[in-house]
Amino acid sequence: MAKLIARDGKEGAMQVCETKEELRKQRAAMTGRVGLVPTMGYLHDGHLSLVRAAREQCDHVIATIFVNPTQFGPTEDLDSYPRDADRDLALLRAEGVDAVFLPTPAQMYARDAETIVEATDLSRVLMGRLRPGHFRGVATVVTKLLNIAQPDAAFFGQKDYQQLCVIRRVVRDLDIPVAIHGIPTVREADGLAMSSRNVRLDTGQRAAAPALFAALQAGQAAIAEGRTIATARARMRTVLSQADGADIRSIDIRDAEDLSSVTGRPTRPVVLLLAVRFGDVLLIDNIVASPKEP
Ligand code: AMP
Repeated sequence: MAKLIARDGKEGAMQVCETKEELRKQRAAMTGRVGLVPTMGYLHDGHLSLVRAAREQCDHVIATIFVNPTQFGPTEDLDSYPRDADRDLALLRAEGVDAVFLPTPAQMYARDAETIVEATDLSRVLMGRLRPGHFRGVATVVTKLLNIAQPDAAFFGQKDYQQLCVIRRVVRDLDIPVAIHGIPTVREADGLAMSSRNVRLDTGQRAAAPALFAALQAGQAAIAEGRTIATARARMRTVLSQADGADIRSIDIRDAEDLSSVTGRPTRPVVLLLAVRFGDVLLIDNIVASPKEP
């Protein structure tokens, strides 16, 4: 393992672990608070903001890179999901990460694995309807990663809002001893939420994609003005319908705390959630909006 100079100037090598046993050994040698940052790799500044938050709040940081097959449906983009482990490792080293877990699917799942973790109701609404089984795959792999790494805290992006809600619920319901931190969405200069999938957009799709954030802002402004959920949704739809090639899969406005349905004029903060396809690339984004004070 090459020795590297971490950002704090101290010499230290980032450990790359391919097996659970190696990671457990690294974890056991860590003292103080340990933060975990699970990712599917092909890292961007959104992922790195989770790593930075973990570094600020913890003494050691473990990142994981695993494109989890069980959260992809049979017709989804598992095979075309972008991957570049060498680049990812260089980025994580530069951020001073202590250990990276980079398992193979065979390392993660026994051939006869049959145990699942599922937040039964939360997993079936919103993106769970568009992607059946997705959140079961996420909840199961995150539970496994928490059990393997045993962190004190784990860091997730608000970009995947429903995922964050599902993970909080699983951790609460199963009494997993870890603090879950939700980190704000990092955006490109034109408002497009950073995503590993953005590289799969062609030039025209990339030019149209900032319409998601524009639609969310239009909806957020409507809620802030005291308009109804129906008006806010209609305004979001209008903005998106002007974006070339945007295939609107869902526009939802839900209670920001528990994702329950809301109608009429909201009285509590709501989350506006979008899923839009450009070609075969599914983009999601969300924003929280607070209603006008009565
Ligand atoms: P992924 O590699 O897409 O599974 O994402 C790994 C983690 O990074 C998840 O907790 C995501 O919510 C988070 N993440 C992805 N994109 C962003 C972003 N643009 N800003 C902040 N966090 C993000």
